Amino acid sequence: MSHATETCCGSLAAELAETQRGLPLSRRAACQFLTCDPALVPDLLAAARAAKERFKPGIITYSRKVFIPLTNLCRDYCGYCVFRRDPADPGAHTMTPDEVLAVVREGEKLGCTEALFSLGDKPELLFPEMRQALHRLGYNSTLHYLEAMCALVLRETSLLPHPNPGLLSGEWIRRLAAVSPSMGLMLESTSAELLRAGAAHDNAPDKLPGKRLHTIQEAGKQRVPFTTGLLVGIGETPENRVDTLLAIRDLHDRYGHIQEVIIQNFRVKPGIPMENWPEPTRADMLRTVAVARLLMPRVNLQAPPNLSAPDYDELLDAGINDWGGISPLTPDFINPERPWPHLEQLRLRTEAKGSRLEQRLPVYPEFLPRILGQPGLLSDRVRAAADTEGYARRAA
Ligand code: SF4
Repeated sequence: MSHATETCCGSLAAELAETQRGLPLSRRAACQFLTCDPALVPDLLAAARAAKERFKPGIITYSRKVFIPLTNLCRDYCGYCVFRRDPADPGAHTMTPDEVLAVVREGEKLGCTEALFSLGDKPELLFPEMRQALHRLGYNSTLHYLEAMCALVLRETSLLPHPNPGLLSGEWIRRLAAVSPSMGLMLESTSAELLRAGAAHDNAPDKLPGKRLHTIQEAGKQRVPFTTGLLVGIGETPENRVDTLLAIRDLHDRYGHIQEVIIQNFRVKPGIPMENWPEPTRADMLRTVAVARLLMPRVNLQAPPNLSAPDYDELLDAGINDWGGISPLTPDFINPERPWPHLEQLRLRTEAKGSRLEQRLPVYPEFLPRILGQPGLLSDRVRAAADTEGYARRAA
């Protein structure tokens, strides 16, 4: 080992020691840990795991959900997406209200508490077919239809909607927050480089980092519990990765509304524009999760287990405290080739790592008071779904 490396390793070790006192990692150290000598990684993971235990000792959560792909039409063309369709593509579909209710009612029987609405961004701006479909359904836009379907689920069932519709104005955040206790938008990356020709977002007008940050900020101004996150391995540099996490942290420091940060790894799928890209390695993913934990020691951190199968339980070693939405009924329509683990397996793997698995609602316990403080159907439904600690009343 060179003298320079020894010095670097020494300062990184000192940074890890600081995290034991609850201090976040510096940007410089975070960047270095993403590429440092592998010999340092066990200490990095141990520090991240210790930070998680200080934050949420002995517990790992998940949300039992149904996945509702309200429409898979989308005006964007992200290089890694297998979900989106043009209207003439096989499998293009916009769900009817009856289809939505049928899925949600099945989920109700299986103890689900979240209806995750995932859909393409503003397809009616590009496709007359979508405008006609919305007109037939009686709505002016995809967001009007989404709002009505969230209200339907809230009114007719015990599941709580969690919409993920893409970019939102302040007005639409206000409207959707009236019918859902939380919502989400993946920041993905703050790197403008991903918009250049041939990169992941070169034909995705809704993936402009500034616009996504604006949506997350608007949600913060309205104190809406918000889920966001980082997409790992789509062409970003280690520094971009850290800066994306820091941008999320800055917004949370200002508004206190980030209920959860997802660290999602890119997976190759046949037929996507990025089908020949390298996937992030397991080591890369573990380093990134650990760095995220040490940058945000008191924020809920999630990584999807189906995208790290079969050894997904290693993510617990890097400091996550949540497995995200898991469905006993519907596939992961975003990653259809990657089935979710069976809930019993998830429980056993979690317990083998020394934690208890707990079912949470689509709004985390610490964010419940801001929903329950506003009288109405939404708070009534959330109160009925929560146990005394704020987790799902129908626990696994
Ligand atoms: S990732 Fe989302 S915004 Fe991008 S193409 Fe797929 S559905 Fe559209």
